[in-house]
Amino acid sequence: MKSKKLLTPFIMPLILILFASVIVWKWPGLQQQFLDSNKLSALITLLPIIPYLLFAITIILGSRSNNGGLIFISILSIIIYHSLNTQFEYQNTKLLIMLLFPLNVLFLSPLIKKNIFTKTGIVTAILIFIEVIFSILLVNLVNKTPSTFIQDFINEFPNLAQTFSNFRNSLFSVLGDKLILESSLIILISIIFSLLLLFIYFANTRNNLFVGYFSLILTVHISLIIQAQEIASIVYFTIAGLILIISFIETSFSMAYIDDLTNLPGRRSLNETLNNLGKNFAIAMIDIDHFKKFNDKYGHKTGDEVLKMIASKLANISGGAKTFRFGGEEFTAVFPNRTANEAKPYLEEYRHIVESTPFIIRGKDRKKKSSSQRGKSKKNAQKQVSVTVSIGIASNTKKITKPEKVLKISDKILYKAKRSGRNKVMVHKGW
Ligand code: GH3
Ligand code: MG
Ligand code: MG
Repeated sequence: MKSKKLLTPFIMPLILILFASVIVWKWPGLQQQFLDSNKLSALITLLPIIPYLLFAITIILGSRSNNGGLIFISILSIIIYHSLNTQFEYQNTKLLIMLLFPLNVLFLSPLIKKNIFTKTGIVTAILIFIEVIFSILLVNLVNKTPSTFIQDFINEFPNLAQTFSNFRNSLFSVLGDKLILESSLIILISIIFSLLLLFIYFANTRNNLFVGYFSLILTVHISLIIQAQEIASIVYFTIAGLILIISFIETSFSMAYIDDLTNLPGRRSLNETLNNLGKNFAIAMIDIDHFKKFNDKYGHKTGDEVLKMIASKLANISGGAKTFRFGGEEFTAVFPNRTANEAKPYLEEYRHIVESTPFIIRGKDRKKKSSSQRGKSKKNAQKQVSVTVSIGIASNTKKITKPEKVLKISDKILYKAKRSGRNKVMVHKGW
């Protein structure tokens, strides 16, 4: 079930990419239909503008959410789209983009919470600027008929242009023209390496923007491979922009619904689940025992680590439960179509797992020691502690049908479990 969830976010982008491919494939016929209609023929002239608009939107979204990575990747996409529409030296531009773009996306994408006006942001911007200028010069200085920009550059800075030309020639004489730009193997490795790492980023963070970047690399490369038609870059970049916007929306949604610390759905999500429950259900409230003491003794940070561990074990309980962080150190498990008694064994198993999972506290002196010393002095290097949870379960009865009411009752039962000694699972026995 977990691996299924890991792949589902890729379905929608892949469908959109397929859709784009069909449009490109059927374009000659479609174009004729557009041109035949007076009203639609005007639209065709507007098509090339759409990708600019979409990436402008992603830049705005990126700056609204302080997402430097999204801003830089959108700017790069615009530059690439623009250069594909205007570049004279198509073949070399294309190969250079194929090589560099995936790597750029890969290195920029983790800048998720970076404002571009920080040190990292500014340094990154300067590096990208140098890279883009360098790439333009590298590709264009060999043109037999340089563009006006390049001609101006050569006139303005003849020495620099000469140095560049020499650099490029010596680079190529060492590596060989074929090896540096036309080696499909290097390009293939760069693409696969980037896609693989983006997938790993996504698997670790579950941030849908990584799916957006993954699809962006795919679409840009497909559009580069289908070079013959101008419409290919328009359609694929439009789809890439759309996928990025949708991924951003998905990410914002999950930010509202998923708890940041534990990665479990939060209160908002619980409320929706409660509103959509069927007739029969059981609800369990789970609370960590003496957690205040734990925090006082080992610090809030260690407490957070315990919360993460407790949550990850809860996310894996069976019985078809949906699990949530209720708030603080309290969690909720909802079992659709089960009675409290039916849910009990799963929670009993969970209670036992928590109780028997040792939590390793890293002592302060441990951090200071080198890794070679660590293994040798086991005595006070680390300490194993365990935490326990108390659980109260209730299900709907003839009289009590509202999920919110049932939840309140399970909370009461939870405190009964606390009073009777903690580390216990208790079931509401009816009135
Ligand atoms: P009991 O066994 O009766 O549940 O005792 P308790 O100490 O667990 O209960 P109490 O409600 O008095 O304290 C809950 C503590 O949980 C208080 C707070 O320090 C801690 N806590 C709540 N949210 C977080 C969190 O996000 N991180 C950490 N580290 N601690 C938290
Ligand atoms: Mg509590
Ligand atoms: Mg507690």
